[in-house]
Amino acid sequence: MGTDRTEYHREACPCGGGHLVIEWHEPDHSYQTSSGNWAYFIKCETCDRAYVLTSQDGSVILVRRADVEQRRALEREGRDLCEKIMRSPHARLLRQELEKLLDEQRSMAAAHRVLTESGVIYAYSIARFRDRVRHDGYGCVVDDELWAEKLPCVAALIGRDTAPIDVDLRRVKELRNAANAPDVPVGEPIFQLRR
Ligand SMILES: [Zn+2]
Repeated sequence: MGTDRTEYHREACPCGGGHLVIEWHEPDHSYQTSSGNWAYFIKCETCDRAYVLTSQDGSVILVRRADVEQRRALEREGRDLCEKIMRSPHARLLRQELEKLLDEQRSMAAAHRVLTESGVIYAYSIARFRDRVRHDGYGCVVDDELWAEKLPCVAALIGRDTAPIDVDLRRVKELRNAANAPDVPVGEPIFQLRR
């Protein structure tokens, strides 16, 4: 078994020494009809060092590799900062009080309701919740579901503020927005993805 490759587009790369190529790849066994995918290539060493082909809003665009690396650095910084926040004394206090509040609930259903209404969990079925709590306790659910950006929900729930971690939380939001900003294309879109 191999892959059928169909070339859909080819144009000169920015430096003119090679090509930008867009292909559709499909397994060559026909019973899987929906399992194809687009593949993009910069067939030029110089341009491959400087650029990346990616898709955005249904178009293939060229972006600077430095921009992609900058975005990864922002994502990494955001993750590290979230971990730092979670290790802080204030986050540990909020977490302890949350677990205490859960332990005080009369039933798992009540604890599930508290967590859902406060926004700590969402789309977490009661059946799955019961199962997890029975096996591993509330602490494990909190481990899985509580991350830095949910701490304001927890603080509101237990009647505390987030003052000691507000500066870091604001920075996390800025980093997330910067990391999620749309890619800035170099030049016009290369190709519209449609088959
Ligand atoms: Zn080139």
